[in-house]
Amino acid sequence: MSGQSTRRVALGLGFAAGVGALVGCASSTGSGAAGDAATSSPAPSEPTVTTPEQAITRRTNGAARFTAGGPLRPDQSVAYRTSLAAGQHPFAVILSCADSRVPPEIVFDQGLGDLFVTRTAGQVVDHAVLGSIQYGIAELKIPLIVVLGHEKCGAVKATIEAVEKKSPAAGNDIDALVAAIKPAVEEEAATKPADLVDAVVRKNVANVVAALAKKPILSAAVTAGSLQIVGARYDLDAGTVEFLS
Ligand SMILES: [Zn+2]
Repeated sequence: MSGQSTRRVALGLGFAAGVGALVGCASSTGSGAAGDAATSSPAPSEPTVTTPEQAITRRTNGAARFTAGGPLRPDQSVAYRTSLAAGQHPFAVILSCADSRVPPEIVFDQGLGDLFVTRTAGQVVDHAVLGSIQYGIAELKIPLIVVLGHEKCGAVKATIEAVEKKSPAAGNDIDALVAAIKPAVEEEAATKPADLVDAVVRKNVANVVAALAKKPILSAAVTAGSLQIVGARYDLDAGTVEFLS
């Protein structure tokens, strides 16, 4: 635990424990959550992940199982569910589109306690999303963030249409989605790609990854080697997750 404590101090994250108490979140750094689970509860289906590389392997393996039609649907028993009340150790933050066809736990074939998920249309971020993600890294020591866009994203299509028609703002909260995706549309439209929707999907993922990487808490963890932030695109037809460079 000394390593985790050192990392928390290095990141200047004293606030995180307070946030955890405030929102009632179970913390991985509580009083021996892992030990409690190990002595009295069923073990998780896979070893605990502690590094970005291990997280990438587990994520990739789970996605491959789902694509092949042979998901394990791990760690969803009543006994395992009960054991998680002692604490959580998710191995990846997933920031994905809210689209009903892209549920991260299913696409990556993971179970309870595995993924720390935030979802918005077009996987755009606001302060609440950014705070949630940084909480996951600071307090739960999660080693991987995946920004997951997808084929034929409706939020991307709607933003392209709004830009092409020069539609005025609607004056409601949906404007926030359009404003967030619009830079990717403008950048990609200028290159006249064969498939503008798909080009914007990929660019929007890249923009969100870049935005996350600028956050001091996240950049410090990346520099320390304890975190990787990657983009990905889910193909609705093939059921595959393509990891973007
Ligand atoms: Zn979408």
